[in-house]
Amino acid sequence: MFYKQFLEAKDVFNPEFVENFDYWLTTLPENNQKNITASVVSSRLGVKYMLADLMLKFAEGKGILEKYYLVKCPDCDFIIDVISKDEIASRLVEGVYCSDCEEMKDVQPNNIYEAYKVIKHPDVTEEEIAKAIVKRLGFKQGNDINFNRADSLLSKKSTLYEAFYSPDESAYKEFKRLRSELNADYGKNTTSKGSALEKLVLEIIGHIKYVRVSDKVRTGTNQFDCTALCGISTLYPSVFNTLAPYFIIECKNELKKKPDNNYCNKLLSIIDTNDAKLGIIWARKDVTSTCFTTAREHYLTHSRSKKDQIIITFSDEDLKEIIDNRVNLLQYMEYKIFKVTSSSKTCTYEMFLEMYKEE
Ligand SMILES: [Zn+2]
Repeated sequence: MFYKQFLEAKDVFNPEFVENFDYWLTTLPENNQKNITASVVSSRLGVKYMLADLMLKFAEGKGILEKYYLVKCPDCDFIIDVISKDEIASRLVEGVYCSDCEEMKDVQPNNIYEAYKVIKHPDVTEEEIAKAIVKRLGFKQGNDINFNRADSLLSKKSTLYEAFYSPDESAYKEFKRLRSELNADYGKNTTSKGSALEKLVLEIIGHIKYVRVSDKVRTGTNQFDCTALCGISTLYPSVFNTLAPYFIIECKNELKKKPDNNYCNKLLSIIDTNDAKLGIIWARKDVTSTCFTTAREHYLTHSRSKKDQIIITFSDEDLKEIIDNRVNLLQYMEYKIFKVTSSSKTCTYEMFLEMYKEE
């Protein structure tokens, strides 16, 4: 073994595969030490794609490889951008200029590929490597790098969700601080009590990229607790189709009472008269079960009209998932929406993830 870091991988993976990977990575020519994809490893070493993918992730975890993303022109296949995970969202929304085609290109997840480059070399001499090569002579190695659909973001859905929502440590700290304010003694000041929850909700939703939130929107007849503008058109993650052009959140910071159908009906009457497709009741306790039925019936009566109308609900239990278990909010919202549209009241988030597992 050249990379000592791979010794422990032998407990997890097939030892022969680990040895081959170690040898292959060590002897890669300089110009092939980048643009390494799971497809390349899979075809070179004759292992299943998923195994190759896991091995690359393992090497990344050990600081040997670094992950990045390549954007290929949808028309000429030229690599037009090399980006980090943080930049994926902006490329999907704003597009990328192709200097070969000399124009801006719409970029989709199938144009973005996950790749790795070698950033740490093994602690061995050239001589030791040369010896190993002589020993293995006959092991053929091509130079061509290929990108398969499996390497593209279309097959790496969780990366897409993370590209649009990934709060950092300090954000989670702030979520926790704001949550601890929810139960403070506000005396008779119901406005401050109510706005404590609004602040938390605005903070969380505000971490979705390209979504702008406000608690100041008023119409002639209504004031919305929170309004979230989602002015982007991206096919993926598809939940944005429901979030755009905006969605409305009614907050209820009340520990003792379950929000009842009145909230559901109020929200429904609001989204009936504007362009929002999604309304959220964000309360402390879970809503009464009639809310779900009402939401489901309303969805059905509108499912053939020109826009969807969906009501979903959040409670303290969901805050645990979002803040403590750090679920991806977009994926979690998609799950909530799925529950209403598929009428699967008993579906859990784990079951949902299982159904939508990556290819
Ligand atoms: Zn091009």
